[in-house]
Amino acid sequence: MIEKTLVILKPCTVQRALSGEILHRFERKGLWVAGIKMIWLTDELLNEHYAHLSDKPFFQRVKNSMMKSPVIVCCLEGVDAIHTVRTLSGPTNGRIAAPGTIRGDYSMSYQENIVHASDSKETAAAELARFFKPGEIFDYKQVSFDYLYAKDEQ
Ligand code: ADP
Repeated sequence: MIEKTLVILKPCTVQRALSGEILHRFERKGLWVAGIKMIWLTDELLNEHYAHLSDKPFFQRVKNSMMKSPVIVCCLEGVDAIHTVRTLSGPTNGRIAAPGTIRGDYSMSYQENIVHASDSKETAAAELARFFKPGEIFDYKQVSFDYLYAKDEQ
């Protein structure tokens, strides 16, 4: 099933000048960009976005890290995009993420771990609505579509 998912290129990625390289990893896999923009996250947005971490001792530290510089929010699209993007990203802690995953290749940290990626259909829908206005996400099919998937996978 074709899905849209949210990826945030975190401040560590923007500041380490890795944005293009990380986006390229997703694009090279066959995911396509349906929306992209730079924003500066706020405490209010992050309270919503990381509500599931609000009782953790590192909550404020994670929020501060996400507000250190602008981030790039991306809507990526493809068949089973939500799961595929999570797999490409790797587990949360960059130090234990396997080489070959984005976090495994670019991160030495639990917190400064390059990307945020939606973890379920419900979260993806809520997160895309949180960060993009309706006109900022585009419905189109890449010309390579029929070469990325067999007919019965589409
Ligand atoms: P993920 O980003 O892999 O979905 P979570 O939703 O659990 O992980 O956490 C959100 C973010 O909070 C992580 O990406 C990471 O930046 C930070 N974080 C989570 N757990 C820790 C931790 N134990 N120590 C430091 N930072 C953490």
